[in-house]
Amino acid sequence: MSSLSRRVTLTRVTFDSKPGGPAVEWAEPLKARRIFEEVLDQLEAALASGQLAAGDRLPNERELAAAFGVSRASIREALRVLETLGLIDIPRGPDGVRLRTEPGNAFAHLLRLHLALGHYDPGSVVELRVVLESWAAAKLASNTDEGVLAALDQSLRRMADPSLTPEAFNALDVEFHATIVEGCGNELIALVLRGCRRVIQQAMLQGLNYGEWETTRADLQREHRRLVEFIKARDSASASHFMEDHIHRWAWRTLSLDMTSSNGEPSSSPRATAMNVPPEP
Ligand SMILES: [Zn+2]
Repeated sequence: MSSLSRRVTLTRVTFDSKPGGPAVEWAEPLKARRIFEEVLDQLEAALASGQLAAGDRLPNERELAAAFGVSRASIREALRVLETLGLIDIPRGPDGVRLRTEPGNAFAHLLRLHLALGHYDPGSVVELRVVLESWAAAKLASNTDEGVLAALDQSLRRMADPSLTPEAFNALDVEFHATIVEGCGNELIALVLRGCRRVIQQAMLQGLNYGEWETTRADLQREHRRLVEFIKARDSASASHFMEDHIHRWAWRTLSLDMTSSNGEPSSSPRATAMNVPPEP
């Protein structure tokens, strides 16, 4: 769609998003609402109807101000909001702005800030992790990728270093999980979990019982190894269930949350052995 030529017409201004395309009825004079909200609404409507698409040009600041009947300062503010949301690029020079073709980091950044503000309760983050990471573990097991498996093995080796501090281990643990999720190739799911990464890391460290660290660490290493074994064995069902169990244990250890498994059973005290994690050889 975005590669096609088209001509876009605002109520009072006509512009070329690309020459020769269909006209868009877009702007109305603005009243009480905040300008950027109106611009966002109209942009969303034009995108939903297919009149605009990623890569298309928007009118420049002067043209937009005329189209919406507002000051250029208001349009500049609106464009800054759109830029912050990762929807447009604002180039230097006289060209109008363009709708981004790549999502960038704005979404993960926004999610991170919401999580940092405590807008979502910790249980919601745990459930989100269970849904997405169990899926990712199953997906990776069903479609194993040698590069990803090698990265997981390397992760396990690095986490086995006995000189690691809890903080360093924790960073590697988060990276291990990110490798699984990003290894599935679903960029949207990876993006959502990237947004959760910092809050997961902080919860792990805040909730950590340093007195029991050596035991916790041994448990985590054992669980990670088992998870990789299931993935390598292409056992999607076990990989998925084990990931769920592993995250529920994490929730218990760090947040004292006793979550319910997808099979309806409470699952997650660190000593619960829903998947019968074998002892260290
Ligand atoms: Zn883990």
